[in-house]
Amino acid sequence: MPANHLPVILVTANDASQEPVFALNNAYMNTLWQAGGAPLVACPGLPAVPMIEAMLERVDGVVLSGGSDIHPRFFDEEPLEGIGKVSPIRDTFEIELARLALARGLPLLGICRGAQVLNVAFGGNLHHDLAVQHRTPPLCHRQTAARKHEWHRVKVEPGSRLADLFAHEIRDGCLWVNSIHHQAIDRVAPGWMVTATAADGIIEAIEQPGYPFALGVQSHPEELAAHRPLFHALVKAASDRKAGVVDQRFSPSQRRRLRLPVG
Ligand code: MN
Repeated sequence: MPANHLPVILVTANDASQEPVFALNNAYMNTLWQAGGAPLVACPGLPAVPMIEAMLERVDGVVLSGGSDIHPRFFDEEPLEGIGKVSPIRDTFEIELARLALARGLPLLGICRGAQVLNVAFGGNLHHDLAVQHRTPPLCHRQTAARKHEWHRVKVEPGSRLADLFAHEIRDGCLWVNSIHHQAIDRVAPGWMVTATAADGIIEAIEQPGYPFALGVQSHPEELAAHRPLFHALVKAASDRKAGVVDQRFSPSQRRRLRLPVG
């Protein structure tokens, strides 16, 4: 494929607020390359909207990567015991990025922390720590196997985008995923749909109905060969948008529902 036809996918990195480096697991980049996308790393910084808009102007899709916890102030709560490392700079950057990406109609995939960012950006909240906050004994969501191994099952909502993408992997309504998290989505953001849950009721995936590609998964699909369809679908959506095949922009009523700027 000629270089100028390759869709460019922006991938967020961990920020430098606690360590003097930006960091990103290479699995994200390798998986995107293999899926036919050209990955570009976005390093979180001061939340200047014009800077984020300049980045989004030049890309065809966005991946919000995994990482540390989100400060509960972004969903109007104070931190509870059990919360882990937090970077308010990265939180602010990614929440703004998610909202502006959707406002532009860019295909968007949130992975692990990225799924939580999507939920918080559109008005949902999180469990600060599953062991402390979840009432019933939860499954073990911090796997003791390497990241490339599946760990627990999730029940996938029939008819969802996720069910469609994993039609060949789903058995008895369930899909095996890996699990490297201790926070999770609690109350789902208005206008978003839960498309996978673990056996303990923990939300494992959300998607935006009526939008060609906006979804978040609590697992790490970039580490699992069987989960490549997610990246192929993201790259396809980015290619279609780039080629003008699909207009992904929301209608004015959808924009009002998501509290995005109208017009
Ligand atoms: Mn899990």
